[in-house]
Amino acid sequence: MPTYDFCCSDCEHRFSRFVSLSEKDKVKCPRCGKGNLKQLFTAFNYKVSGGRSGVSAPSGGSCSRLSCSTCAGC
Ligand SMILES: [Zn+2]
Repeated sequence: MPTYDFCCSDCEHRFSRFVSLSEKDKVKCPRCGKGNLKQLFTAFNYKVSGGRSGVSAPSGGSCSRLSCSTCAGC
């Protein structure tokens, strides 16, 4: 199973979970307990292949941190 990185939309807590694909929708934030999470993709791959910033970012970014590298709304 792969490890997924998540960013909580409510408290911006970032964490990783080792879950199957079918279970990742059930993951909840360990800090606030809410399930309003955004999945992060590896920043490494993102930067290597892209190098662009703020282009065609996925919508729904309520996370305002630059460190949240995959959510384009950041
Ligand atoms: Zn949270």
